[in-house]
Formats: sequence, structure tokens, C-alpha cells
Amino acid sequence: MKDLIQPSTPVDGQLQVAQVQAVAETWSPQHVLSWALQTFGKQVAISSAFGAEGMVLIDMASRISKDFRLFTIDTEFLFAETYNLMDRIEEKYGITIERVYSTLSPEEQQRVHGEVLWSSNPDLCCNLRKVEPLRRKLGELSAWITSIRRDQTSVRSGAKRIEWDAKFGLVKVNPIVDWTSKQVWRYIHDHDVPYNALHDQDYPSIGCTHCTRAVRPGEDPRAGRWPGFNKTECGLHIIEPLPASSQVQAATAEGGD
Ligand code: SF4
Repeated sequence: MKDLIQPSTPVDGQLQVAQVQAVAETWSPQHVLSWALQTFGKQVAISSAFGAEGMVLIDMASRISKDFRLFTIDTEFLFAETYNLMDRIEEKYGITIERVYSTLSPEEQQRVHGEVLWSSNPDLCCNLRKVEPLRRKLGELSAWITSIRRDQTSVRSGAKRIEWDAKFGLVKVNPIVDWTSKQVWRYIHDHDVPYNALHDQDYPSIGCTHCTRAVRPGEDPRAGRWPGFNKTECGLHIIEPLPASSQVQAATAEGGD
């Protein structure tokens, strides 16, 4: 694979996306991952909330490099099963998960914003516990790797394998963006990949304890996220347009949850 120069500015990153975006649509997920790890080195990290898709990426990356970076936004409201999976990942793959927290502890949030912010204002709660910590983490990086799939939500339907993330100002890499849930689970079973025990209890999509429930037969896989609210995204993958002044054509979107 051709060596590429690590981008040091947003314009470099956008140019880099413009150079490979079209051809990358023909690449395998492993090829996309190899490209990202080789191109960005320590300046790229996988972002994961350890859903089934994220587990596929972690396993694939471990077969390409023993030294890849992996981070998670720990809202401090995750299920015990998720924390247990994090321990198993660190043991199996020999890596340390970089855990990123809100600047507000749950107790401080309760004091400032009331007891159940996730019920009174889930967008603010997600901003405090997910979006701001993610923005802080992405500020350290030139690129991030996410496990989003186009068929998960309408917001994700236009995502590319490699795109410019105008919201956070770095390259965004989505290796399995065109995969189906069936492909994800086939990979997991074929490669004996660990996964969250809640998936076997009708939780296809897993977030915080306060905002996730099991789905009923026939429901959309993300129906268990923010039940009772007209909300399907925490804000991590919302598409924002490029500035009109941009001379580089690059797609935009956002990883992980
Ligand atoms: S998913 Fe719920 S509890 Fe978690 S950060 Fe968002 S609103 Fe808060």
C-alpha cells in the first residue's frame, strides 16, 4: 500500500480524503483499516461503545496491528455487562482501552442539572456525557475509526468509508459502513469474537442504563434507545455541512454509538 503523509492540518486531511474517498468505496473493511492505521499511526484511534459492530472492528484491527489505539466514552452510566466486556477485551487483545469521561461526575451533574437529566433533557445529558468528552478526545487525533453502518439510522445512510468530519475537524473512517447486521454476526461467530451478554437478552443496541431497554419482537433494533423520546442519535454522528469556503469536496458525518 502506498505510504501517505500524515495530515497536520484540516486542509491536509480534507485533501487526503478527496484523494482516496472514491476508490476506498471498493476496499474491504480490512483494507480500509490497514490504510487508516498505516496512514495515521498513533494519530488514529478506534472509537467504540462495544456494540457488535465495534467488536468486529477491534478484532479486525488486532489482526493487522498489535498496537492500535482504542477509546470509549464512559458516561459512568453503562451496564455492568459492558464494563465486564471491556475487561475481557483488554485481556484478550492485550490492549488498554482509553476511557474518556465527562468533566462532571454523575453527582455533580445531579447537583447542577437535577436528579434525572436523561429524562428531563436527554440532549443536554448526551452533550455533557458523550459529545463534549468526544470532542476533547478527537482534538488529540488526526482521524478516528467508527463502526457505524448505513442502515442503522437515516442520519448514517449517507456515510462513506472514508470522509471528512467537519463537525470535529478530522478524518473519519467507517470500515464496515456497508455491512448488514447479519454480516456483523457472521464475523463474530466465525472468529469467536467476544460480545456484550445483553445482546442475547434482546438488546441489539446498548447505551446507558437510563436510556436503553430490550426491544420487543418486530421492533426496530434501535427502538430500545431513548424510549419515549423522538431521539435516535446521541449527537456523535450528526452530519454537518462543510463551510462554503471549502475548496475540497469531502463528505461529512461522524463513531461509536
Ligand atoms: S444516553 Fe441517556 S444517560 Fe447516557 S448520556 Fe445520553 S441521555 Fe445521558
